[in-house]
Amino acid sequence: MLHRSPFIPMAFLLFGALVAGCQQQEAKTAQYTVSSDDEVIRAAVMAESLGLRLDRTGGGMSRLSNSSNTVLLFPAAGGAYVNGTKVGNPEEVMVFTGETYVTRRLAKQIRDELRPAKPPTSPPTVSRQNDSPPPPEAKLGVVLLDAGHGGDDPGAIARTGRREKDLVLAVTLESARRLASRGVDVKFTRSSDVFVPLDDRVAKANQLQPDLFLSIHADASPNRSARGSTVFVPRRERRTSRSHQAGRAIVQALSSLQTHSRGLRTHEKNLRVLENTTCPAVLVELGFLTHPAEEQLLASPDYQQRLAEAISQAVLQYLQK
Ligand SMILES: [Zn+2]
Repeated sequence: MLHRSPFIPMAFLLFGALVAGCQQQEAKTAQYTVSSDDEVIRAAVMAESLGLRLDRTGGGMSRLSNSSNTVLLFPAAGGAYVNGTKVGNPEEVMVFTGETYVTRRLAKQIRDELRPAKPPTSPPTVSRQNDSPPPPEAKLGVVLLDAGHGGDDPGAIARTGRREKDLVLAVTLESARRLASRGVDVKFTRSSDVFVPLDDRVAKANQLQPDLFLSIHADASPNRSARGSTVFVPRRERRTSRSHQAGRAIVQALSSLQTHSRGLRTHEKNLRVLENTTCPAVLVELGFLTHPAEEQLLASPDYQQRLAEAISQAVLQYLQK
């Protein structure tokens, strides 16, 4: 429930007018929106409307600034920071086709956090080049997170209508946030509700050569009593391989949660994301959407956080070895 003061609609209209230049971009992403506040606008358009320069974009981060403010945008669950203070919901910063977007809601929250800008001593310029690149951070490693399905492909669907693609994206983004905050360089095959072909996921892994490719799914079975998490590793690999090491760490972490663990396995089918990737690769099935009690558990945000924490801990442990 939101109680809004009367000036908000006017501010909203003004803001809307400022960002009207990006109608086409919005139309492209409108299929993901629910209400007008959930609509997304390009970070560059927001920067312009708020009197900020887009100093830097790349490395998964965009920096917007003026004489008094620095706004950092970390897509895919990293969130937005205004002068060092976290603003809004991390999932409101996202990337589509290489460009950073934010929701209108977040843009308004950022606007409200900004300090008044000092008058410029010289006309503001849009600098494409970064004068002082940030110091390279020591990273624990690179992890490519692969949320299963997406877009037109819902994956498994529970009797309640809950879709695998939504559940796995939530857990993926939450895991990413936790890993990124602990120094892991996190990449995605998808960080929003889009369809990504399996071969594109494999190609990204093979091009990036991360320390781990981790595919996240939820299971389904005609047998409604089937339950538990399962961790799959490539069939061709030995038990001493890095994939097996990561897989064992994830099995162990998931075993400590409420769900039954079905352990580390190889799949009877040729899972392309495991068999065709040339880096360490693991696929985790979080549990069964077809098991009524387990579906309820998987649907709970609290349990999703615990899954993400378990996965993150396991991945950190694997990377540190
Ligand atoms: Zn799946």
